[in-house]
Amino acid sequence: MRPYRQASHPEPLIFEIPEESRTFRIPGEEEVIEDVPEALRREDIGIPDHPEWVVVRHFTRLSQMNYGVDSGLYPLGSCTMKFNPKLAELVASWPEVQYIHPLQDESTVQGALRIMYEVQEWLKEISGMDAVSLQPAAGAHGEFTGVLIAKKFHEVNGEGHRDEVVLPDSAHGTNPASATMAGYKVVEVPSREDGTVDLEALEAALSERTALFMITNPNTLGIFEDNILEIARMVHEVGALLYYDGANFNAILGKTKPGLMGFDIVHFNLHKTFGTPHGGGGPGSGPVGVTSRLREFLPVPIVEFDGKRYYLNYELKHSIGKVRAFHGNFAVVLRAWVYMRMMGSDGLEWVANRSVLNSNYLKERIKEAYPHAGKELKKHEFVATGEPFLEHGVKTLDIAKRIADYGLHAPTIYFPLIVHEALMIEPTETASKAELDAYADAMLAIAREAKENPEILKQAPHNAASRRIDDYIASKFPTPTWRVYRTKTKDKLKV
Ligand SMILES: *Cc1c(COP(=O)(O)O)cnc(C)c1O
Repeated sequence: MRPYRQASHPEPLIFEIPEESRTFRIPGEEEVIEDVPEALRREDIGIPDHPEWVVVRHFTRLSQMNYGVDSGLYPLGSCTMKFNPKLAELVASWPEVQYIHPLQDESTVQGALRIMYEVQEWLKEISGMDAVSLQPAAGAHGEFTGVLIAKKFHEVNGEGHRDEVVLPDSAHGTNPASATMAGYKVVEVPSREDGTVDLEALEAALSERTALFMITNPNTLGIFEDNILEIARMVHEVGALLYYDGANFNAILGKTKPGLMGFDIVHFNLHKTFGTPHGGGGPGSGPVGVTSRLREFLPVPIVEFDGKRYYLNYELKHSIGKVRAFHGNFAVVLRAWVYMRMMGSDGLEWVANRSVLNSNYLKERIKEAYPHAGKELKKHEFVATGEPFLEHGVKTLDIAKRIADYGLHAPTIYFPLIVHEALMIEPTETASKAELDAYADAMLAIAREAKENPEILKQAPHNAASRRIDDYIASKFPTPTWRVYRTKTKDKLKV
């Protein structure tokens, strides 16, 4: 038998471990110690072999070359890169959490089930929905789940012929992707000058073929769709459902609810609004909420409470089935539970107030140099444009690169697609006035440089850990692990 197989081997690893190789006794001691069986041990595992100090210094240096939410303001629009409180990490590291197993009997994990149940209840309260499933593992996964729920709902009602999903041209890219993956044709509705949905164009797009209208409100321009009740009426009138992309709940926490606006299905990004790590920081969680008429379609299991004990309910009549193994990303749900317990309902409303204030403050400070798109009053984010600098040969990409030289993180760029040379800025509530001022000062300084010394922007970054990346090599030959890096450097990047 081969002693081991590489992790990339396509066959599943199946081992027969003989009884006697599972334990061994240290000579002179009574205790029997469990050990790695002989058959699983290997001499050379082919990873770098270095002393502790080399490893610690290497990773500490790498972490210093990086920029994260622990480094400073990270205004990546739509991504809600707020500070992730350390208390949530502490609780998630407790052995009571680390050592439970998804196959344990319900009676032994009542605490974990209670946490899941409470998160479901709080999300219902926050969104005005009637039932929530914590299954999906990310925002896009929540959308896909929501679209499948709408699809099955129409099928059960004998309306399986509905084959179109309508969405505004300001939609997040995952919306058309989720609809397409669920087998729908996507119909796009243009936005008006002020950034909101054009009702006439919507009227023309809706028909008895429409299954779902998907929208985020405030939309990706950070603008509240004040015609939302009219939109809901129009969508329901043709027998379609209304989907709320709730990835960014910051601006409406405690202010209003998708349920009050007429929405039928909502997804949440716990890893945005509810302060759990994301991006390179860890997995996400994208729970889905629905109104009572869609409850039976939710993915299973959902957690229920009978007054005495918490239990998993797999018996939903029209459930779309399972969308993920076991119970979703429990450790992420737990962190969001800690966050919500820490903040309380007053704290969550403070998040809405402060994130909207921060976004409008920053918008006001830079608007002379960077005009913004759509209505004046913004919610948690705004979209500025780098268009005025094109005449100096400076693109938004150059501005973003130059921001790194000031020791700051760039905003989202070139999204949403409807704004030319877009800079999408979301400071979040976890930015102090001093940080916002420093950011505004840097952006204004860059605006001056763009006119006086555009070359400095085109070559930027100059002071960052790496110079300008070759986009072609980065996308065609990604280096996700050191193994790839080793082979690539050996072959001297045969491009
Ligand atoms: C982030 C985001 C999503 C997708 O969430 P993921 O967890 O990244 O899949 C969807 N819609 C909007 C508006 C978002 O900002």
